[in-house]
Amino acid sequence: MQTHEIRKRFLDHFIRAGHTEIPSASLILDDPNLLFVNAGMVPFKPYFLGEQTPPSERATSIQKCVRTLDIEEVGITTRHNTFFQMAGNFSFGDYFKREAIGFAWSLLTDSVDDGGFGIEPTRLWPTVYLDDDEAEAIWRDEIGVPAERIQRRGMADNYWSMGVPGPCGPCSEIFYDRGPDYGVEGGPEADEDRYIEIWNLVFMQNQRGPGIGKDNYEILGPLPRQNIDTGMGIERVACILQDVDNVYETDLLKPVIDVAARLTGRSYNSSAADDVRFRVIADHTRTAVMLISDGVLPGNDGRGYVLRRLLRRIVRSARLLGATEATMGEFVDTVLATMAQSYPVLTDDADRIRAVAVREEDAFLATLSAGSKLFDDAAASTAGAGRTQISGRDAFALHDTYGFPIDLTLEMAAEAGLSVDEQGFADLMAEQRQRAKADANANKKSHADLSVYREFLDRGPTEFTGFDELVSEARV
Ligand code: ATP
Ligand code: MG
Ligand code: MG
Ligand code: MG
Repeated sequence: MQTHEIRKRFLDHFIRAGHTEIPSASLILDDPNLLFVNAGMVPFKPYFLGEQTPPSERATSIQKCVRTLDIEEVGITTRHNTFFQMAGNFSFGDYFKREAIGFAWSLLTDSVDDGGFGIEPTRLWPTVYLDDDEAEAIWRDEIGVPAERIQRRGMADNYWSMGVPGPCGPCSEIFYDRGPDYGVEGGPEADEDRYIEIWNLVFMQNQRGPGIGKDNYEILGPLPRQNIDTGMGIERVACILQDVDNVYETDLLKPVIDVAARLTGRSYNSSAADDVRFRVIADHTRTAVMLISDGVLPGNDGRGYVLRRLLRRIVRSARLLGATEATMGEFVDTVLATMAQSYPVLTDDADRIRAVAVREEDAFLATLSAGSKLFDDAAASTAGAGRTQISGRDAFALHDTYGFPIDLTLEMAAEAGLSVDEQGFADLMAEQRQRAKADANANKKSHADLSVYREFLDRGPTEFTGFDELVSEARV
């Protein structure tokens, strides 16, 4: 079943059950605490907090999500994308646990002819929160899941809050058993690679008190109105229904891997290290396209820097696979083609999206070709001297002269089996900033007002790299 069809079945299932479809919000919302929308409930926060009245008591959506926290997992686990689509159903003071569990179960297990996904019920393992006898009883007595396939988990896995005082409550998650090829027996408690999480059902029933973090707060008492918030990962369901190994090989992303194989001359499925690079290219190109579509441009901090980092990882991965020419345009075109069916807006904006990505590739290729010799020399002399750490001075020179962001030096060092003296690098950066300030002050005393340059000096050095943009210092 293709992704587009999975999306449609999800929405139809919940519309049939009286939910109003709400279109995905932009990845960028006006929320100072959030870089990108990272869950389906985010646009509905004002309803859950009681600040606004929802348009209806039942809603369903497929929300675009970006999770930068998962960036290091991409291509290594079978299930983490940086961009993914979270399908959800929401009850604002209307139905609660019984219906939420029933709706999820029927969509997953109803036959394909009946509008469901046709998943074999014996593959599914629900979890419940430690003391949630009510949810466990529904799974066992009403749905008929054998008790030994229902696991209880603690606060870190199965209790939800927004991280601030407000609604909170236990969750029940649904995992799919991929079979012995993927890991050891024993349910999600034993192995979350074999048992892949597909759906999280959140039962907002209590009020959270102040306190810090995920599990260090007081639960104050029941909410006046109980809510439901659920999130099903479209990519993960696609992976299961298309019977592919991982979320990067589904219908939306595999075409990018194929293009990368053609352009680099390397084949997929022949080396573990290369396979990660192929998957990174597919995953990150899609995330970059969706971010540019929602108005992000490559930059030196915040959202722009995330985008820049994604685009650079694509370029680097393609190089490491053997690409010698620019590849970004074709990667982007492939994503635009697979995603346009669900996001027609991409078609109208295709030229601009491609141009933004390609411009960043051009600039980064120039940086890379300028700095690679210095990096190779530094790596060789480090190894030659029997050391495993590239000096802070070398990392600083790469940054100062060639505009290598420290991330890039770290990544290239890791690939060469080396580390970097990050503290030494940071000290040199700080020293340089001090020097720039002192110079500026000296100039100010002796000459005309130079304060217009102040901003640039405070930002540290500019590099002569033939670039049209400054290189990042955001991570320094
Ligand atoms: P995991 O434990 O696998 O990292 P999670 O517990 O962080 O997942 P939730 O926050 O509960 O995920 O999000 C709800 C659903 O969204 C998950 O059950 C999963 O199907 C999907 N999902 C979460 N993170 C990702 C991701 N990085 N890529 C693809 N799908 C995801
Ligand atoms: Mg996670
Ligand atoms: Mg989880
Ligand atoms: Mg979860």
